[in-house]
Amino acid sequence: MPFDEIGYQPKAATILRRIVERGHAAHAYLFHGPPGSGKREAARLFAQAQNCEGGAGDPCGQCRACDQIARSMDPDAPLYPDLVHLAPGRFVASDGKKQASDTIVVDAVRQLRQSLYNAPLVARRRVVVVHEADKMQPAAQNAFLKTLEEPLEKIRTTFLLLSARPQALLPTIRSRCHAVFFAPVPAEAIVRRLLSAGGLEEASAALWARLADGNLQAALTLAADPDASPLIAERADWLTRWEAVIAGPAAGYAEFEAEGRKRDEMPKLIDLLIGWHRDLLVVQSGGDPRHVVNLDRLDALRAAAATLDGPEIVRRIERLVAIRGALDVYIRGDLAMDALLADILVSAKLPAGRADSLYR
Ligand SMILES: [Zn+2]
Repeated sequence: MPFDEIGYQPKAATILRRIVERGHAAHAYLFHGPPGSGKREAARLFAQAQNCEGGAGDPCGQCRACDQIARSMDPDAPLYPDLVHLAPGRFVASDGKKQASDTIVVDAVRQLRQSLYNAPLVARRRVVVVHEADKMQPAAQNAFLKTLEEPLEKIRTTFLLLSARPQALLPTIRSRCHAVFFAPVPAEAIVRRLLSAGGLEEASAALWARLADGNLQAALTLAADPDASPLIAERADWLTRWEAVIAGPAAGYAEFEAEGRKRDEMPKLIDLLIGWHRDLLVVQSGGDPRHVVNLDRLDALRAAAATLDGPEIVRRIERLVAIRGALDVYIRGDLAMDALLADILVSAKLPAGRADSLYR
């Protein structure tokens, strides 16, 4: 059954199936959760279920409406007239110029409102998908709020707001939406999905799943073309910097610190270091190299494993996990970097004199 397509999100799938079976959709839903957690697939299934020619319940996925909706999920190629997209950087002004910025501008919301005055052309229920809804500029959010306050039932329209950062939306918008949470996709579910597509070994699937860290879309992209993925390139950059730090030269240390202090980089960096230290444990205990995530860095791992004892590696992993947790909740990136330096680098048996220079 098609809602099983998002079986890796059992709670969201159950909620959506229940909405469809009851036959009464609300005016607005907020699908929130990290990138690549299936919000877009869920939006497509919802739109199909509302308009499937097979009637209420799970969409058939085969009829004309289901087919057209599936092919209309790309905001650039709308085919089904009653599936409407609002997405960052896609607004075309009256002079024909495309809005290049990475936001949703107020004019785009106004244009959308005008297009909604009439009843749907062919659909039982029109669906408006707001991609990356948190990228609506403040004025756009206010205009959107007015749209949500209008009597939408007579135009048979439901809004689906997709967002990885729902806290960036006005509280008044959030309170008018029914929230549906999408959790990070578990690694086992990502592996199953990758293997079901065929042509991939289990070890590779496991590697992509761990690198993708709950982002199913990233894992699929990675598996399709590992060399083209920014995830792979970034990871290689960071590991090269990290290896330079533990190898000793001061230049490597300065670059690592400067890059790491950028707020956006910290969670990524710490996740990477957690994975790297776990690999260190595998290597040191003589475990099966297939369990090493960063298999391409085996030489550096072996060199580091020879200089550290097991309890120290475990202690570092525990500290990294604690810093990572604090970063999610309350601390700033620069404080996380300080903690990282104090707890990890100083204990990394830096050459004499270097530890002092950390606190200049
Ligand atoms: Zn159908």
